[in-house]
Amino acid sequence: MKKKNVLVGIFALTLVLTLGYAMSLPEDKTDWKTVSYNQVKRSESKVEVNENQSTQSKEINSIVFSHGSKDEKLISLTFDDGPHPTETDKVLDVLKKYNIKATFFVAGKHVKWYPDPVIRASKEGHEIGNHTFNHYDIANLSNAQLEDEIKMCEDVIKEKTGKTPTLFRPPYGSYSKNGLPEIADKNGYKIVLWGGVDALDWKNPSAESIAKNITSSVENGEIILLHDYATTNTVEALEILIPQLQSQGYKFVTVSQLLSE
Ligand SMILES: [Zn+2]
Repeated sequence: MKKKNVLVGIFALTLVLTLGYAMSLPEDKTDWKTVSYNQVKRSESKVEVNENQSTQSKEINSIVFSHGSKDEKLISLTFDDGPHPTETDKVLDVLKKYNIKATFFVAGKHVKWYPDPVIRASKEGHEIGNHTFNHYDIANLSNAQLEDEIKMCEDVIKEKTGKTPTLFRPPYGSYSKNGLPEIADKNGYKIVLWGGVDALDWKNPSAESIAKNITSSVENGEIILLHDYATTNTVEALEILIPQLQSQGYKFVTVSQLLSE
């Protein structure tokens, strides 16, 4: 009898835990922001693109980019994971002040929740890139699921901005997933990673530190990874690094402009 009670107890506890877990899955906005966020960004900052070691064929590599031409003083600021209900507008205010264009790799589900900053960014001449709908690690998805993630994000971007995105950045930097280049190519996308500058803004260092990481190692053709979601000093860092790099002769363009040079 006692053993039976223990078994019933274990069963009940398992049921409660399972239901509790299922109910906390990321349909809830708060869960996605607070629980998985740091893990996501930590992974993204570690990506290193070694073109020589890639197992992909040459043809496939021709749609994967981590920088533009090194011949001219052109660079691209990219902001991942937004739109954020307040942070994205602050980024847009600074870009407007210095009259520069940038690229936002948005999560489709955030566009659905907070469309206004994306609509504004698009109207002000910034480029909107596809960063999947749910921001899952695509390495864990089937090819059909990956294509759905890309299409769902594309649909919501098109619905809100009237423009079709042509750049895709995989969450977690999972660019080596089998099938990704073919799916990207088939749907009209270039795969955009980032270069050697690691601003680490997701770790929320000081604005001075973020700016210095960028200004001390930036090169022609650089694609710079920043975030407009859950960071604290990125906007302030822009106020430091943009005028400094402009005074050195750098021009800030969208990634599509950078890659067309
Ligand atoms: Zn991301």
